[in-house]
Amino acid sequence: MKETRPSLDLRCPVCEARFRGQTLCSRCGSDLTWLMRIAAHAWALRQRCRAALNARDLSAALRHAYLASQLHLPKPPMPDL
Ligand SMILES: [Zn+2]
Repeated sequence: MKETRPSLDLRCPVCEARFRGQTLCSRCGSDLTWLMRIAAHAWALRQRCRAALNARDLSAALRHAYLASQLHLPKPPMPDL
């Protein structure tokens, strides 16, 4: 599975509104810039993990996967039924 952009399954930590990819929460107006940066960094780490797996560098892949998981865990995709 190829992840082409940061996961958007985030919620505002203040009011729990669904994250809509904007720097200000659509419901409460909280600044979500840091949330976007964290999600983007986690996405970049997952991309590095995939590259390391393709290069068969399991140590680097595990390191990148661990670091990404410390920042953000995207929801798993729904299975095809
Ligand atoms: Zn909010």
